[in-house]
Amino acid sequence: LSFSSCNLPQKLLQNLEAAGYDIPTPVQMQAIPAALTGKNLLVSADTGSGKTASFLVPVVSHCTNFRFEHPSNKKKPLAMVLAPTREICVQVEEQAKLLGRGLPFKTALVVGGDAMAGQIYRIRQGVELIIGTPGRLIDLLIKHDVGLDEVAVLVLDEVDCMLQRGFRDQVMQIFQALFQPQVLMYSATIPPEVEKMASSMAKDLVLVSA
Ligand code: AMP
Repeated sequence: LSFSSCNLPQKLLQNLEAAGYDIPTPVQMQAIPAALTGKNLLVSADTGSGKTASFLVPVVSHCTNFRFEHPSNKKKPLAMVLAPTREICVQVEEQAKLLGRGLPFKTALVVGGDAMAGQIYRIRQGVELIIGTPGRLIDLLIKHDVGLDEVAVLVLDEVDCMLQRGFRDQVMQIFQALFQPQVLMYSATIPPEVEKMASSMAKDLVLVSA
C-alpha cells in the first residue's frame, strides 16, 4: 500500500511527500484505508509508530471532501481529537498543520493554560478540527454554545492514559454530545476498561495492532 493508492486529495498527497512521509508505516497501512471507509477503529499503537498521521490523514481527507461537497458559510467543526495532555495536543496540532497546508483545514487548540476566549473566538471564526484535553472541552461544551453537530469523526488518542487520569466520564460526555460520529480510538495497551469504553461507543469496531 502507498499513500497515492488511497484516493486522497491531491494536495494532501503533496503535503505527505513534502513532510518526507514516503512509505506508510504499518499502523498507517492498516488504519488509513479502514478509516477512509468510515469504520470505527480500536488501534493498539505506541508513540513513534506514526499513529498521529494514521488518524490525521483520514481526518484531513474527510474535512477537505466535506468542504468541497458542502460549500457554505457556516464553518462548523467537522472533527475532534481528544488527548490526555496539553503537550500531546500541541504535537497533534503541529502535524495537522503540516498535513493540512493549503487545504480548507484550520485547527483550534482547546487546552488549559490558554485563554478560553481566544479559543472560542477562533472556533466561531470557523475551524475544521478541534484538538483538546477532555476537561477543557467539557468547559467549552457546557459554558459556550459551539455547534458540534457536524463533527463526524472523533479521535481518542492515548485512551489508556486518559482513563488513568480519570477522564472517563468527561470523554463519554463529549461523545454523547456528538451525533454518532465515526470513532478512531488509539491506546498503547488495551486493558478491559479501554475495550469496554470502545464497545460502548461503537458496535462494529475494527481492531488494529501494528
Ligand atoms: P507518532 O507515532 O505519531 O508520534 O509519529 C512519530 C514520528 O514519525 C513523527 O515525527 C512523524 O512525523 C513521523 N512519521 C509519521 N509517519 C511517517 C511516515 N509514513 N514516514 C516517515 N515518518 C513518519
